[in-house]
Amino acid sequence: MVDVREKDYVVIVQCHIVKERCSGYNCERAFNERIGGFSAYPKDNGYRSLYMTCGGCCGQAVQRKLGHLVRRIKKHEGIGKDRIVVQLASCMTKDNYHSSRCPHLDYLRCLIAKLGLDVREDTFIDEKSEKRRKAGIYTVSD
Ligand code: SF4
Ligand code: SF4
Repeated sequence: MVDVREKDYVVIVQCHIVKERCSGYNCERAFNERIGGFSAYPKDNGYRSLYMTCGGCCGQAVQRKLGHLVRRIKKHEGIGKDRIVVQLASCMTKDNYHSSRCPHLDYLRCLIAKLGLDVREDTFIDEKSEKRRKAGIYTVSD
């Protein structure tokens, strides 16, 4: 389990396809209000944060983008990868009205683990969507 109290820097990775028509506001609000996937983050900790998309299917750009961040932040500020946590947005991790959850999620988790970064899941969690998920409304059937 990732202890977010030991982190300084949060990277929110969002689905590139969904971001073509989403500003990402709900992710930002969830982080600011420490709700949904951010409820474990202490409010009094002034985390730095960075938002990026996966770069499009199959998400391989995540490795390059996060690798770039890891190198730069170490070089310029001495922040090690142990101080960074990656948070995968709910549009990647959950079925919702925008789209189904990311089919490359396991691959993305592996890429992030390969970089030695901790990863967590979910950002904004919409109540109505949670009810619909539980009711199986977003379940794809044959
Ligand atoms: S989780 Fe919601 S607000 Fe965040 S990028 Fe995805 S669709 Fe947009
Ligand atoms: S479906 Fe997955 S790999 Fe494809 S753009 Fe969305 S998050 Fe990225």
